[in-house]
Amino acid sequence: MDHFNYVDGWLHAEEVSLSRIAAEVGTPVYVYSTATLTRHFRLFQQALNWTDHLVCFAVKANSNIAVLKLLGDLGAGMDIVSAGEYARARAAGVPGERIVFSGVGKTETEMRMALEGGIRQFNVESEPELEVLSRVAVSMGVEVPIAVRVNPDVDARTHEKIATGKSENKFGIPIARAREVYANAARLPGIKVVGLDMHIGSQLTDLEPYRQAYAKMADLTRALRADGHQITRLDMGGGLGIPYRRDNNAPPLPIEYGQVIRDAVGDLGCEIEIEPGRNIAGNAGILLSSVIYLKEGEGRDFLILDAAMNDLIRPAMYSAHHDIVPVREAAPGTDVAPYDVVGPVCETGDTFQKGTQLPTLAPADLVALRSAGAYGAVMASEYNSRPLVPEVLVNGDQFAVIRARPTLEEMLGRDTIPEWL
Ligand SMILES: *Cc1c(COP(=O)(O)O)cnc(C)c1O
Repeated sequence: MDHFNYVDGWLHAEEVSLSRIAAEVGTPVYVYSTATLTRHFRLFQQALNWTDHLVCFAVKANSNIAVLKLLGDLGAGMDIVSAGEYARARAAGVPGERIVFSGVGKTETEMRMALEGGIRQFNVESEPELEVLSRVAVSMGVEVPIAVRVNPDVDARTHEKIATGKSENKFGIPIARAREVYANAARLPGIKVVGLDMHIGSQLTDLEPYRQAYAKMADLTRALRADGHQITRLDMGGGLGIPYRRDNNAPPLPIEYGQVIRDAVGDLGCEIEIEPGRNIAGNAGILLSSVIYLKEGEGRDFLILDAAMNDLIRPAMYSAHHDIVPVREAAPGTDVAPYDVVGPVCETGDTFQKGTQLPTLAPADLVALRSAGAYGAVMASEYNSRPLVPEVLVNGDQFAVIRARPTLEEMLGRDTIPEWL
């Protein structure tokens, strides 16, 4: 459920008409709903209320500092993968004790920054990383809590570019080597083993891969304890999918996912961490865009929007589907026609949807691309020198620009011409 609905024939974000946002901020623009973000976060809290837990929002899904502050104020922790994300989480007021550092390529500089500023735990992804982390911690005179990310070799049954839990993926340590790696970790100075971590992929629409992975996690936890390690935290990763199509079977709910966790590891007495990103932010955002032209092609009509692949790359990158709806609600019985909905960028891949059925639209009409709150703005670029897409946060009947559209001067001002040129 989200808070983007038609009111008096116009699509609203909560109580704010999207047409008003378009008039005041311009398009394209991302619009997020506070009520939806809050609701989704709370569903995960409730799903784990049977035990000590921390819901760490995966910052890479939507890293606007206002969004992070909203979630942080509700009690969320943060799952981060870079110095930049660490800085964003801190700027949003999230204390280091609630920040988990993930990622396969953490640099020494990033480690130092997190250890200086405070961190809950590092999710270590390789032995070389473990050694560097040990060296950095010793040089700073600190002890760093770690979990090892283990790759369970489970098929997440999702798009190949976002599956992370198969042995051929770059993530984590092969499960067969886990005990040996923990033994090494326990011997390293500056390292304190506290937990075990897995993350098998994103946009999972089936609970079975989680069941398989978490069963392996439970077995491994018992084996590690038998080896003498103190495993007090289990980081179950993120990845629960969202409905991208309104007319489709909905993926499992957070409450059902929480039950899978409880069934698998509930008897181990561990604090549970989860790292949902998409499920909290995805359906809490839309990309609002205007029609520039209607163009008749051969055997097809093109709807050319002012949003493009540089603003929302998921369709081009993952062949992802986003429902496209008119902001002015079509009257019942209105004729619809198939359109190829495209952006202005000079790439054939700049296509949001092919043959999508829409009522007749005219230049300047508004459309919303739904389910765009996660992996949308964060992946935006200025390709074709289109200024970075702005973001708006709605709360009830108010809204605020939480990232302004850069002016052309600001965009150009980031380049410098060397004096010898
Ligand atoms: C991307 C990622 C997540 C979040 O995945 P979602 O599908 O957005 O829930 C969580 N943990 C790690 C380690 C990730 O890389």
